[in-house]
Amino acid sequence: MTSSTERSIAAAEAHSAHNYHPLPVVVAYAEGAWMTDVEGRRYLDMLAGYSALNFGHGNRRLINAAKAQLDRVTLTSRAFHHDRFADFCAELAALCGKDMVLPMNTGAEAVETAVKTARKWGYRVKGVPDGRARIVVAEGNFHGRTTTVISFSTDEEARRDYGPYTPGFEIVPYGDLAALEAAIDEHTVGVLLEPIQGEAGVLVPPPGYLRGVRELTAARGVLFMADEIQSGLGRTGRTFACDHEGVVPDMYILGKALGGGVVPVSAVVASREVLGVYHPGEHGSTFGGNPLACAVALEVIAMLRSGEFQQRATELGEHLHQELGLLVGGGAVDAVRGRGLWAGVDINPAKGTGRQVSEALMERGVLVKDTHGSTIRIAPPLVISKEDLDWGLAQLRSVLGA
Ligand code: PLP
Repeated sequence: MTSSTERSIAAAEAHSAHNYHPLPVVVAYAEGAWMTDVEGRRYLDMLAGYSALNFGHGNRRLINAAKAQLDRVTLTSRAFHHDRFADFCAELAALCGKDMVLPMNTGAEAVETAVKTARKWGYRVKGVPDGRARIVVAEGNFHGRTTTVISFSTDEEARRDYGPYTPGFEIVPYGDLAALEAAIDEHTVGVLLEPIQGEAGVLVPPPGYLRGVRELTAARGVLFMADEIQSGLGRTGRTFACDHEGVVPDMYILGKALGGGVVPVSAVVASREVLGVYHPGEHGSTFGGNPLACAVALEVIAMLRSGEFQQRATELGEHLHQELGLLVGGGAVDAVRGRGLWAGVDINPAKGTGRQVSEALMERGVLVKDTHGSTIRIAPPLVISKEDLDWGLAQLRSVLGA
């Protein structure tokens, strides 16, 4: 007899494009750091929707904000004003210490917006000749899936068969300031970086790198565009990963947790000099900055303002890295990287692939996801209890025989 799980997966396989390879679990319900599948089995969520669920599943404050807004107005389009928009923009700008916000929906759209903004700024403000703007990006980057964004990916799987590619991007090794400096010329309008590379396996750049990027871009009249879509909004123990080096980029690119795992909300946040380049009709989105998105994001911003989630990420993160550190060198784990409640764990290939370890963890009631063959990422909701985190780590040790 086939189970609900098997039936559900077979139906999904039959009618959806196979652009993902999910673990064989079908979630029906979730609360806090826990998910329950269609068979009633419970799982500890150690992925948190790639950090979109920093505040946990079904967070009451976020759900209540969404419910209240659902009964009022959900969409106006930007053809009209609505009464949550001004507060959202003002509060988000204040959280970032900036002047202006340009709201979109998904992360990739926000990155596209950042690219367009830097180019427009380059032509209108910096005086770069039309069509010559260049943006420097890093090897191993992940900024989303649109045609332009994959044009500067170094992941063959993400790029193959999608050409012709958008020109105007220069790729340099991540963490290498000298290479970055050499890549900047008079037509360079921006440097686009993840302060910590998430998809690449939670790669933290060498100390001083972000500060160096800030100094270099400021000195050369180039915009520093920080893609904090995965690293931002509490995950690393600070509001932004750039905060760890006391660095303020010219543009924050935000997404994922900005919508609290309830609605897709993304944004570019910058100074008036940068986002002031836009005029009506030059960019937009039907759903960008919609009332429901603004209501949820306002609650997210209020929660971040308290500092409580950053504090949790710091404390639990220290514990997580201490525990994971004990596994390194014991034959099961080759390396651990990360910051705050976020870790990339390189599994010794003798213990299995990242996928095999993820499947074995699933059997034990823990959900993580592999990346790049042998790495698993650990990024539970910041609301996870220490006991649950310890239980999840115990399952990892059992799976690895460590
Ligand atoms: N930028 C970074 C750093 C990301 O981690 C992601 C998603 O994982 C994106 C951009 C793309 O976001 P989305 O999937 O919402 O388009």
